[in-house]
Amino acid sequence: MLETLREQVCSACHMMYDNGLAAFMWGNISGIDRANSLVVITPKGLALNEITPESLVICDLYGNVAEGDFLPSVDLAAHIALYRAFENIGGVVHTHSKSATVWAQAGRDIPPYGISHADFFKGAIPCTRSLTISEIESEYEETMGRSIVETFLERGLDPDSIPGALVFNHGPFAWGTDCIDALKHAAALETIAELAYRTERINPEIMPINKAILEKQFLK
Ligand SMILES: [Zn+2]
Repeated sequence: MLETLREQVCSACHMMYDNGLAAFMWGNISGIDRANSLVVITPKGLALNEITPESLVICDLYGNVAEGDFLPSVDLAAHIALYRAFENIGGVVHTHSKSATVWAQAGRDIPPYGISHADFFKGAIPCTRSLTISEIESEYEETMGRSIVETFLERGLDPDSIPGALVFNHGPFAWGTDCIDALKHAAALETIAELAYRTERINPEIMPINKAILEKQFLK
């Protein structure tokens, strides 16, 4: 079932591993078949370079396994929360890539300091609020996904022009039209996080890029 999507998610897994975005098995990827409302996601317990199309797990949007020999990624509920809320997206990538995770742990949005940022994100990359103890103890993964959605709704952000977010105390999620596009955004987010960190180190007084330049560059 969903052989083409399986192949695509598998390719994204290997590309993510080769790019060093997911050390120590910290990372997962999914793609969705909107026509059938089925998600193909990485299995729990396999390193990304070990994944084959057959080892991926197919789930419905309620978290039930439709096909697969393994358990789905523990972050399945977060992926589903994003697919349910952001109807144009076709793929989700979660990593603990180093620089982006530094910003997530610090609880800070990544401000747009230059056109490299503006090439991919039309504004600051938001960081979510801290979760309550009961949220963490009960449904952490689902709440994590919902906290991203909540952040976009509360701030009036467009997930199609800001295709990523930081989960406070945790790490980045990125999404796109499919899982390959989502992976591109995850890689860009990591580079942008590193550039922003260094920019602030050199000039702690630096202000975000002018909005007109940001929007012009994004539209290119
Ligand atoms: Zn994680």
